[in-house]
Amino acid sequence: MPNQYNESQARELIRHYPGIAEELVRRTYTSRLMGADPRLVLHGGGNTSLKLTQQNILGESQETLFVKGSGVDLSYIEPTDFVALDLTFLRKFRRLAKLDDAEMQAQLQISKVQPSVLSPSVESFLHAFLPHRYVDHTHADSILVLTGQPNGLNVVRDALGPRIAALPYCMSGLPLAKQVAAEYDNNPDLEAIVIANHGIFTFGEDAQTSYTRMIDYVNRATAFINRRIKGRALITPRADLTPVKERKPPAAALAQLIRGANAHADPDGKSCRFLVEFRSSPELVDASIAREAPLLCDSGVLTPDHVTQTKNRYVYIHSFPGRIDELGVMLRRDIDKFVAEYHRYFQQHAGLDDRDLQESDPFPRVFLVQGVGVFALGRSRREAEAAADIAEHTICAKLQAGAIGAYVPITDTHIFEMEYWGLQQKKSAGRTRALLQGQIALITGGGGAIGCGIADRLLAAGAAVVLSDIDETRLQKVRWILQDRYPQGVIEIIPCDVTNYQSVASVYDEISLKLGGIDIVVPNAGIAHVATIEDLDPQKMEAVYAVNFKGTFNTIKAAIPVFKRQATGGLDRVKCAF
Ligand SMILES: [Zn+2]
Repeated sequence: MPNQYNESQARELIRHYPGIAEELVRRTYTSRLMGADPRLVLHGGGNTSLKLTQQNILGESQETLFVKGSGVDLSYIEPTDFVALDLTFLRKFRRLAKLDDAEMQAQLQISKVQPSVLSPSVESFLHAFLPHRYVDHTHADSILVLTGQPNGLNVVRDALGPRIAALPYCMSGLPLAKQVAAEYDNNPDLEAIVIANHGIFTFGEDAQTSYTRMIDYVNRATAFINRRIKGRALITPRADLTPVKERKPPAAALAQLIRGANAHADPDGKSCRFLVEFRSSPELVDASIAREAPLLCDSGVLTPDHVTQTKNRYVYIHSFPGRIDELGVMLRRDIDKFVAEYHRYFQQHAGLDDRDLQESDPFPRVFLVQGVGVFALGRSRREAEAAADIAEHTICAKLQAGAIGAYVPITDTHIFEMEYWGLQQKKSAGRTRALLQGQIALITGGGGAIGCGIADRLLAAGAAVVLSDIDETRLQKVRWILQDRYPQGVIEIIPCDVTNYQSVASVYDEISLKLGGIDIVVPNAGIAHVATIEDLDPQKMEAVYAVNFKGTFNTIKAAIPVFKRQATGGLDRVKCAF
């Protein structure tokens, strides 16, 4: 992993933010460098901080901690995404023996010295207790490969050398912050601290030093892994299995089946449907047909931080029948088993907790399908993509861990502790769900004003929308009109000729590969040609018939197999005969 620090880029960013402290812009710059590399952090993971002495409005100097706001993605971080906290106040918390979650959150809010709607990172105390001006924290894959080994802490020490400390896993919060600070006090020569099954903290007096230490130590971990692997194959192939050759058609049908089988009603009665992200890199397909595949799915997350996005275990679809629809029965059986195991896991651990906990939805988020690849589920496209990214990195890291020794799963107790952490629960409780969240709509004739208006209403209600039209330029224009007002990835455009059945059928395949399936079909493509019968050109009449009648028929007919596989409704009215 190259060290991407470039002083002229840093200076350019400083010029881009006149009036903002140079140190904070440098903090922003190196945070973005780390955020841009998925081997270091994924989707909002990791955090960074800066300590500065500033003057308050009374002219008094005030030691301030600028720490990443919770949930902010490091790759897009802005200087205003760092929450400014009273550092002198926070440091006093080292005296406390414990601090419960609610109190910790309240105290972090109280300690703000500048208004911000963001909540400071849950690792704020750790950043505050270390004395260094810059502190960087990532969940680097290679570090997790090492800490996931049997006797992982010693492996980390061997790999990274004497100027690091390695601590056992402990939940983020005051106890972890105190342990890390005590470790540094005992050995001020430390350049980094590793927390098992969690990640690595590096620190320094300037942005470049702290960032460079992060890259150096992660590279040392990677080099250690590569030396141990010594060109050995990461997987043990099974002679009886090969990748599915024509993957797209079965993958489209599989996405529909998986999506349908996981649709359910939440405890509040609201319907929940997932979007599906399909991945089929050669590494994933090879992993799916390896002897290791069942264990990869069953051995849990790399770090408890991932559990809310992927659940702890994945579902392995280990046989691929010739008839795709036979898979539906098998799939439902596997999901029922997963759900039953999740209920057991919840009841077992919630019974030991004195809080009144509500069980999260028990449905899986990641499926590894033999010979085909990974299907990841999320309540939004962003969530589905995040689950897929995490699954890809997890599978790859576990294969490496297996090749250099063995991968030791994290205990269910630690997983539960994170999944049902008060702060985590608060985050999800605050999320409101739009009426059509998780639903996917196709609008034909999407390049026109009416299609644009329909798309706007569906998007506003939370649906993901696919606009289709014979004219791609018009489609791009409609997307351009709408895209700024809605989250990235919720508008797709797919050109199609509705008068051609195959063209329409392939749109449904493409939608399923991109998003998972379909819930709402709006056959909106139409043309008008007004003339008296006497003047009507028969060819124009043919075109009106082809688009308005045949096009509507094709659009509805091609949706039927998708609705059948999903089995989530949508077929009530298609039985009427033309
Ligand atoms: Zn962390």
